[in-house]
Amino acid sequence: MGAMVCDRAGCTRTLCDTIIENQYICNDCQQEFMDLIGDEKIPYEEMVEQFMQFLSQGKLAEARHKIVGVKEFFGLGTR
Ligand SMILES: [Zn+2]
Repeated sequence: MGAMVCDRAGCTRTLCDTIIENQYICNDCQQEFMDLIGDEKIPYEEMVEQFMQFLSQGKLAEARHKIVGVKEFFGLGTR
């Protein structure tokens, strides 16, 4: 057993209590996912799919919501 590190890409929080589909998630990321999904009810499989996508594209999703200038925009792409 590791340090229960959040499995979301780019997140380094540890000691996560929540484990879904063998993926640890911290409270912050859980809240963000809940905000993202909202009150929508969808099939479980779809929810898992969205969740996995959320975990793997954590950083990218954050970048998408950023307000950027064009120089920063091209800078983001090289990371
Ligand atoms: Zn996290």
